Amino acid sequence: MTPERLLSELIRLDTTNPPGNESDLAFYLKTLFDEAGIPNEIIAPAEGRGSFIARLGRRGKKRLLFLAHSDVVPPGEGWDFAPFSGEIREGMVYGRGALDCKSLLAAQAFCLLQLAREQFPLQGELIFAATADEERGGALGIKHLLHRYPEKLQADFAVNEGAELPIDLGKQRVYFLQVGEKGTAWTRLTARGRSCHGSVPSLGDNAVVKLARAVAGLGEYRSPVKLVPEVKYLLQELARIRGLEIPVREENIDQLLESLDLEHGFTETLRAMTRLTASPNVSGGGSRVNVVPDLATAEVDVRILPGQDRDYVLRELRSVVGEELEMEITEYREPSFTSAATEYYRLLEQTLRETAGEGVLCLPMISAGSTDSKHLRAAGIPAYGIAPLAPGADPELRTTIHGCNERIDIASLHFMVKFLDSLARRYLG
Ligand SMILES: [Zn+2]
Repeated sequence: MTPERLLSELIRLDTTNPPGNESDLAFYLKTLFDEAGIPNEIIAPAEGRGSFIARLGRRGKKRLLFLAHSDVVPPGEGWDFAPFSGEIREGMVYGRGALDCKSLLAAQAFCLLQLAREQFPLQGELIFAATADEERGGALGIKHLLHRYPEKLQADFAVNEGAELPIDLGKQRVYFLQVGEKGTAWTRLTARGRSCHGSVPSLGDNAVVKLARAVAGLGEYRSPVKLVPEVKYLLQELARIRGLEIPVREENIDQLLESLDLEHGFTETLRAMTRLTASPNVSGGGSRVNVVPDLATAEVDVRILPGQDRDYVLRELRSVVGEELEMEITEYREPSFTSAATEYYRLLEQTLRETAGEGVLCLPMISAGSTDSKHLRAAGIPAYGIAPLAPGADPELRTTIHGCNERIDIASLHFMVKFLDSLARRYLG
């Protein structure tokens, strides 16, 4: 079995969430791991929603966790090939999950199977978890595992998905290690007024107009810059590569971002790493064209950095929308963070540089979105996100994640295996 064949088989098991059906994939792994003599189990909090956990090595001081999720998002329309074909041709593996996240899952599984076949003497435990339900928040996957069986995922640190794909800046190839994820503070704004007939509107107090002012204010709003040390370092290194003399300070970040002259999507990703964002994405009010409305609401997608919290969100939004509107945080999820100043981060960095070639650079980053890592970090387990594609991988691949025509080159898959294998041998050898 090659890594690409394994990935192909995993893609063919349709684990679109909802409904998930991750147990099909868990049982497929179970057969492989049973044959290899690696202790494993399936934990399913609901029918068909199994997560798979395997443990290689022996109980010792050291424990390393390989984590990947087994569900995928619905494929949607517009594909040039069947989304669950798992076809292998012209050096690529095709299908939903090829990047997010079945390639990492296949590489991790392959790595354990390979170490077991070799009977490599591990001085500790290599734990592998393929979790269900990540794409819908993890309640039936990692959250359930951490809540019911916290000891099963206990590890010194975890390697999961979550980093930006590598980029090339001139001759410099840059890899990323994800050390944090922004939190969510979805907020509802409510404007109240006084209803009256629309023919004499000055008799009333129009809630839609009040809300519109607040929404327009949020559209213009730029929140204060906050530099997490890891992000400051990232920006300093990018400036250095570009030969810029601009110091990295809170007050000149936007100028720096422009001067870096990066691809637009990446510039905006960096901007989101430096501040709270607030996007009013749903709004409504009023019921009839001839009635002045007394109620209007908007839903604002607010994302916060490590170190920012509910109070900060309410304070910032209040400063934009004024005193009159009601504000309520309807859904809140803490930001998550693992320091880059650890021996684990250094080991990851070193291993990545050795796998990719000494010339590459490895930089920390924070994601605007989130993965299962947030739950691990909340449980006190350091987690790092990777995206170790091979040098030369097509940068266009990033647009296929959660989009159409998802695929990965076989060279990148092998690169992932090599990286993970060397990490496991170094840490547990
Ligand atoms: Zn994912």
